[in-house]
Amino acid sequence: MATLNADLHCHSVVSDGTLEPEVLAARAAANGVELWALTDHDEIGGQRRAAEAAHAHGMQYLTGTEISVTFAHETVHIVGLGFDAEDPQMHRGLQQTRGGRGNRALDIAAGLAQAGIPNAYEGALKFVGNPDLISRTHFARHLVESGVCKDTGDVFRRFLTEGKPGYVPHRWASLKDAVRWITDAGGLAVIAHPARYRFTANEEYALFTEFKAHGGRGVEVVTGSHTAAEATKYAATAREFDLAASRGSDFHSPDESHTDLGRLPPLPGELTPVWELLADRIL
Ligand code: AMP
Ligand code: MN
Ligand code: MN
Ligand code: MN
Repeated sequence: MATLNADLHCHSVVSDGTLEPEVLAARAAANGVELWALTDHDEIGGQRRAAEAAHAHGMQYLTGTEISVTFAHETVHIVGLGFDAEDPQMHRGLQQTRGGRGNRALDIAAGLAQAGIPNAYEGALKFVGNPDLISRTHFARHLVESGVCKDTGDVFRRFLTEGKPGYVPHRWASLKDAVRWITDAGGLAVIAHPARYRFTANEEYALFTEFKAHGGRGVEVVTGSHTAAEATKYAATAREFDLAASRGSDFHSPDESHTDLGRLPPLPGELTPVWELLADRIL
């Protein structure tokens, strides 16, 4: 089972990816993915299309989302897998979480205007596939297209991260709520790319401890956002906290993502893959 080619983290135009769910499904299948999940940020509007396209390509499917959470002054991402995509509490929770994005985007644009980059809101909107979900990624694409920066990584470094002109502090969902929305809807909550957070050891310990206390059961170990050393480190953390392990590319775009769908190392041994706990939730 651990050798199953599962890719349980990626994004479509329903959030900040550049491909339609059907195009992602075709690409995943062509790359050998056997079990797939589309995990758009704070959105499940692409789930039905993704599941249908997965089946059309002979893949198994788990419902997915990636919820933005504020924990200890940092944004943490919680991936939800295998939940009921019709669950009303999940719909309300995600809608609430998305809700602040419009005003945040106007504030981001105001910050960029002060830094000498006018009309960034209108520029970002050209890249937005879902009007409910404008993200920093869309600003990044605009600044690349307009020649201000050479690539999206450069935009984040210079303009969109803490202390930079287009950075706007934002309060997302609470860890407790995000885990509850997922688990109450029959799904499994997973801490996404744990190596990406700027936590002290104590803060990270608190994250894992509270996550478990709220009912969280998984952690991403192998992801496009981790180096091999980080995967080894979080394999140990998964064992320490008795969490199941997930695997996902975090693919956004052929032009931007260095890890393609399904092109990841296998999970390290002696870990329980999340899909073993979700056997009865696979579509
Ligand atoms: P938002 O949810 O609007 O804050 O945007 C977060 C998204 O920005 C993440 O999901 C990534 O897709 C993207 N992102 C964050 N940091 C970087 C970075 N350093 N380089 C490129 N993309 C990034
Ligand atoms: Mn993203
Ligand atoms: Mn993420
Ligand atoms: Mn992601």
